[in-house]
Amino acid sequence: MFQRHETDILILGSGGAGLFAALHAARAAPSLRIAVAAKGLLGKCGCTRMVQGGYNAAMLPGDSVERHFMDTIAGGKWLPNQALAWRLCATAPERVRELENEVGCFFDREADGTLHGKAFAGQSFDRTVHKGDLTGIEIVNRLMEQVWAGPVERLEEHRALALIPAVDGAALAGVLFVDMRDGTFRFVGARAVLLATGAGPTMYRYHTPSGDKSMDGLAMALRRGVALRDMEMVQFHPTGLLAGTDTRMTGTVLEEGLRGAGGYLLDGAGRRFMLDYDPRGERATRDVVSRAMAAEMRKGNTTPNGGLHIQMSHLGPAEVRRQFKGMVERCADCGFDLAGGLVEVVPTGHYLMGGVVCDADTRSELAGLFVAGEDAGGVHGANRLGGNGVANSTVFGGIAGDTMAVWAADNGPREPDETVLEAEVARALHPFALAAGDLNALRERLYDAMWEDVGILRTAAGLRRATAALENLERELLETGLQEPRRAFNLTWHDWLNLRSLIEVSRAIALAALARENSRGAHYREDFADPGDLATSTFTVVRQADGALAVAHEPVAFSVVRPGESLIEGEAGAPPPAATD
Ligand SMILES: Cc1cc2nc3c(=O)[nH]c(=O)nc-3n(C[C@H](O)[C@H](O)[C@H](O)COP(=O)(O)OP(=O)(O)OC[C@H]3O[C@@H](n4cnc5c(N)ncnc54)[C@H](O)[C@@H]3O)c2cc1C
Repeated sequence: MFQRHETDILILGSGGAGLFAALHAARAAPSLRIAVAAKGLLGKCGCTRMVQGGYNAAMLPGDSVERHFMDTIAGGKWLPNQALAWRLCATAPERVRELENEVGCFFDREADGTLHGKAFAGQSFDRTVHKGDLTGIEIVNRLMEQVWAGPVERLEEHRALALIPAVDGAALAGVLFVDMRDGTFRFVGARAVLLATGAGPTMYRYHTPSGDKSMDGLAMALRRGVALRDMEMVQFHPTGLLAGTDTRMTGTVLEEGLRGAGGYLLDGAGRRFMLDYDPRGERATRDVVSRAMAAEMRKGNTTPNGGLHIQMSHLGPAEVRRQFKGMVERCADCGFDLAGGLVEVVPTGHYLMGGVVCDADTRSELAGLFVAGEDAGGVHGANRLGGNGVANSTVFGGIAGDTMAVWAADNGPREPDETVLEAEVARALHPFALAAGDLNALRERLYDAMWEDVGILRTAAGLRRATAALENLERELLETGLQEPRRAFNLTWHDWLNLRSLIEVSRAIALAALARENSRGAHYREDFADPGDLATSTFTVVRQADGALAVAHEPVAFSVVRPGESLIEGEAGAPPPAATD
């Protein structure tokens, strides 16, 4: 029924988190076997490669870890897990030095040789280091070279299907895969498993993440009863390209640096509207800008394709071409002149702040399961700052590699629960026994339900409507089969599996959104517009038991700083400066 394979450290995903974990694990435990499995082609899949704008690290004169941390907490509306956020900000400079000095990346510099820090929205300091506007390609290409130079096993086009518990249920025993190229099922037993599949809210009509991402990791975690937090927190990036329905470029992102550099957002009549909503204008955080755009679009002052415009030409076309070469070319491919004219944009589903509950060493509550990158919850709270995404995946990927090396040295392999293994193979084969149906129609309905009712502006009535729609979609999917019976490279089968993961995780998002009766960051309830009391903030935790989802609220632990306080000297609530002699 399936092949069996063994390793010591198994990494799911080859983005920034997965590759950094492999690099660190190989260094920390050279005698252990390490395997990296990814749904796509290694180095070509996932979103880290797509990172445009850059990487937040407090390493320029005048900046500090405390300042980066306070921006992260304030941007996250006091919901982040502060231990995780602190670890992110404190480790990011070390990781950038590692990327440059050990991995071989080269980021843009000033004439005097210091790193160049770009302005990103919602930050009190221009700390986003970058390689032009194609930072991710630099990071992933160099990381890959380093990882593949070592003895790391590559499982390409291996789709993880299920986390398989040990026979005693006390820990994880490994992962069930299907080799997408020939359809073989393969169980890979491992002492430590890293979930780094990058989440990715691709269930929204407009979305930015790579097509290989369909929330598989979180769906697998839910099925094993692992807790997910902050699932209502889906980030919409304000400037998704809007180029009509005939191109897959629609929804792809135009980077944050455009607004940071002084770009204007205009309605269909050419009026700049952002200052009506926030004194920071276009440099307000993503949640604020996306909401303002949704409100303007609702008023009907839209562009030909139903969105809004971004204008950069007032900054000088030559300068725009120089600073944003990649973006100018991308827009030109779709018939827009970014440097000298107007480009149509729409808010687009970009990032999931929610994810698996874990500690600052990347341990989940399931022994043997570690989590890093976009699959992990808690670092960003209600809103992720631009530049904190790739920092998150590389910082915690490295930490996961170090932590797993220690765990795997101390914990031997475990026997898998064969009943679960067989049930999971049968689950994956489910659509082959059914008459073929229209998966595209189901996907379109999923896009609509999530965009209309679980998107930027939410109400209880809309969320209930979406929950009912998702239940119907799941039932219909389970009655829909495939055209072709072959398992080898059957992309329709993988589409079916993608849809199943997306619907399952969408239900968790809708449930958490219904449970949060206030508005924080990316989560905006028109019927509960108040943010609620910061000092008694809670976060949501969704768990699946006996096939049903349940949501709970847990108090935020203000372990570093409390609402009203600041770590920055001279700011309201700051501690008194240390005495000097
Ligand atoms: C267009 C775009 C631009 C961005 N720009 C920035 C930016 O400027 N700055 C910033 O900080 N952040 C940015 N981000 C966010 C950033 O890319 C992500 O936060 C980060 O790269 C996620 O890293 P990761 O390692 O968690 O996942 P990814 O890099 O997305 O990797 C996920 C991996 O998991 C694999 N996978 C998925 N499902 C399975 C499965 N079932 N089985 C096996 N493997 C699986 C994928 O194939 C892939 O290899 C951007 C995102 C996008 C989409």
